[in-house]
Amino acid sequence: MNKVKRRAVLILILAVVMALGLASLLLLLEDQGADWAAFPSNSHVYREGMLIAGRVRDSHGELLLATKDGERVYSADRRTRLATLHATGDPWGMIGGSAIDLFSKHLMGYSLVNGVYSLSGQGRDVYLSVDAELNRKAWDALNGRSGCVAVINYQTGELICMVSSPSFDPQNPPEHPDYLNRFLTGLYTPGSIFKLVTSFAALEELPQLADYRYTCSGAADYEDGRITCEQAHGELSFDDALAVSCNCCFADLAQRLGGATLEKYAQKAGLMEPLIINGFTTVSGGMAAPQSGADLGWAAAGQYHDQICPAAMLRFVAAIANGGKAENPWLLKKVTTSGGIPLRFHLGNESRRLMSGDTAAALKEMMAYNVRANYGVDNFPGLPVCAKSGTAEVEVGRAPHAWFTGFLNSDEHPYAFIVLVENGGTGKTVAGSIANTVLQAAVAAD
Ligand SMILES: [Zn+2]
Repeated sequence: MNKVKRRAVLILILAVVMALGLASLLLLLEDQGADWAAFPSNSHVYREGMLIAGRVRDSHGELLLATKDGERVYSADRRTRLATLHATGDPWGMIGGSAIDLFSKHLMGYSLVNGVYSLSGQGRDVYLSVDAELNRKAWDALNGRSGCVAVINYQTGELICMVSSPSFDPQNPPEHPDYLNRFLTGLYTPGSIFKLVTSFAALEELPQLADYRYTCSGAADYEDGRITCEQAHGELSFDDALAVSCNCCFADLAQRLGGATLEKYAQKAGLMEPLIINGFTTVSGGMAAPQSGADLGWAAAGQYHDQICPAAMLRFVAAIANGGKAENPWLLKKVTTSGGIPLRFHLGNESRRLMSGDTAAALKEMMAYNVRANYGVDNFPGLPVCAKSGTAEVEVGRAPHAWFTGFLNSDEHPYAFIVLVENGGTGKTVAGSIANTVLQAAVAAD
């Protein structure tokens, strides 16, 4: 009897082990099957290294990329092809963070049961969060200059505009294409937009900031060098110092904070780490602020060794708009069958608190004041803009990078934005006018 019992137990154990083995194999297939099928030597979905299945659409369904007779076919409109290239992707999948790079398994229509053979044999429709019309407006506004424009819904993380320039026509590519998406993988000297980070640190670390006063004479000397402003700003409060973007005053605040604290707040702002956007890893920024002196002062003003990625800066500014909570940016709106049956939606966004609600509210008010006191409400007709400009010195003899970043203080139009024009000149005029053009279009489309 004991013998029979032992055998029964043994058989049971064997059965359990086999079931576990089968389950883990199925899990592996579910997890990695699409990647195996997406291997570029699979001739069902690739031809000469090009993915030839599925369609990419913008958030409203406008067709950006299709497959016809085994060939890739982009939008018939050249301007659309140029303006949406970095969101759609080049035929070879070289542009990181594009639909072709990130969503090939959705485009192929891979399923566990049918492999890459979708029932219709046409692959699937991938809808991006990007609005093609906003991209076209941003592309036109950049007017051939290098840089990037991006707009995010700060309440949801949805990226509704993402343009990088230079771009190229994927139907007629140049011999040496520039694949860089400057928004996701560009690394730049931030200039004065970094004063938002220094202000973040000052608000949380320095007591009695409301009573703080600084008198700018146009220059301030330290043992290791000199801080300069374009003009003598005179006596300033903390709010006024940000509004007129006084380098000398921010250098003074930085001495009170110290380099280690400033770096800590650059990290808290999320600028020193990569973002993960639908599985794509952006570049991370960097800085190396000494503990005191002129170099620290310049680091507090976004110069010295400060480097940031525009995507991370936009997330930080979006967090200020959203009460301190950063919604992670995302690009994939939904996937449907070729017949329009929805298979997958963007669900449950990741978010992270970057600062307290009080600090976010204080920064928001200061950014609203910047527009009233310096940039000019009339330059943004009808828009409740809160912003910070930057004019980042990069190379001797070349024009500075022009930056403008901020958001609309509006639940109806919850948009945060960042505009960069490489060697474009003055931030508030050059990048500010591009921001106005794109925001007007975004609000008009709602
Ligand atoms: Zn000054």
